[in-house]
This record gives sequence, C-alpha cells and structure tokens, in this order.
Amino acid sequence: MKKKLEKLFENLCCSHCKNSFDENSFTIKRDEEDLTVVGLKCSHCGKDFGMAFLGFGNIEVKDVEPLEVQQGPEPIDYNDVIDAHRFIKNLKGDWSKYLPS
Ligand SMILES: [Zn+2]
Repeated sequence: MKKKLEKLFENLCCSHCKNSFDENSFTIKRDEEDLTVVGLKCSHCGKDFGMAFLGFGNIEVKDVEPLEVQQGPEPIDYNDVIDAHRFIKNLKGDWSKYLPS
C-alpha cells in the first residue's frame, strides 16, 4: 500500500520547502479492507498537509489547513492532489491496477 501511495504523490512537492514527498511523508492511520486513511506530512520541513482518505473506486483528500496550503507561491501540489482525486475516481474500482506494484 505504501508503494502505491508513493506513486500517487511522487509528482507532488511540498508547497512550503519544495521538497518531494517520499515514503517518510506518509503515515498510514488506518488500513482496512475498503478504506485507507493516510496522513501526509512533509518529512523535510514538517509541514502537515492533513489526511487523505482512500477507498475502492474513490479517493478523497481533505486538507486540514486548506487556506495555509493555497496561500503558497505555487499551490500546484494541492491542485495536483485534487486532480489525482478526480483521476482515480474516474477509474472506479480498478484504479490500483494503474499503479506500479
Ligand atoms: Zn516541506
């Protein structure tokens, strides 16, 4: 599961320090059959981006600090997360097969 998360966020970077997210940026809070809850926190500067909820057929990213993230000079990382949300949602239940194992 963690490898899939790395692929999902590999093109994103921290809006605060511009470092890429890596495996140390994720904390799996809950890993159940149909729901995984992941905390996303920059491992370089420690900025907390909140939680991502991943389930079969859909992914929802809820940021606990949306305003703080978006006020960065390049809030592209937040938008990319939303794009990933829409992309994966459109894949319905088969989204995981598009991620390298
Ligand atoms: Zn950072």
